[in-house]
Amino acid sequence: MLTMNNARPDFENADLKVAVLPIGAVEQHGSHLPVGTDTMISSEMAARVAERLGAYLLPPVAISSSIEHRSAKGTVYLKATTLALVVRDIAECLHEAGYEKLILINGHGGNWILKPTIRQLNRDLSGLETVLIHTSAGAERQQVVVDHKHHDIHAGEKETSIMLHLRPELVGQVKELNDKQFQLQDYMDYFDVMDLSEDGYWGFPESGTVEKGAKLMDIMVDGALQYLERLEAYHAKVRERKGE
Ligand SMILES: [Zn+2]
Repeated sequence: MLTMNNARPDFENADLKVAVLPIGAVEQHGSHLPVGTDTMISSEMAARVAERLGAYLLPPVAISSSIEHRSAKGTVYLKATTLALVVRDIAECLHEAGYEKLILINGHGGNWILKPTIRQLNRDLSGLETVLIHTSAGAERQQVVVDHKHHDIHAGEKETSIMLHLRPELVGQVKELNDKQFQLQDYMDYFDVMDLSEDGYWGFPESGTVEKGAKLMDIMVDGALQYLERLEAYHAKVRERKGE
């Protein structure tokens, strides 16, 4: 794996074809988790994936599309369309440099725009495939680890567990909610998260444990690698069908 700590000759000697880009967020995560939670989680997942693939681990796009958290101090966000342009610029650079695969590891659920962005990029940039993988990779196996299978959306059991695993010193006391009735996730289209939850979290952080966090991270990395393998296998099948 190469990172931004490497010098030009390392890149010249490496014949790199794959780059991995973590996409995080800088947004409020309740009273108990740091605003950089999504960036820390996606960066760690991306590092582990890049290590396994011997890829170029890019530094994270730390600020992304977090408009739904804007009413909370500490949140900084890009407009969704700006994020799309940032990703497009990075993909175009890698395409020019001869990379064949860009793997986005997305740690923030609000980055919906990444989906149409990569669908378009994959038609526009022939030779570079941009793959979008979320921290939900291996979702079915993740569900077995957590106690709460629904409504654990933001700074809840899953994220708190992973942060207890990665950065326990940054995890604070969970503030109990008086109103524990969670709304439809779609309501983020109409309301800020701070209007939907008293403490800005959405889920069950009190159920977070370091053991669950370690398991979840392993599953996420494994899920990402499996997704990539399956995609490769399907490419081979399509090539074969076309007689290439
Ligand atoms: Zn988060």
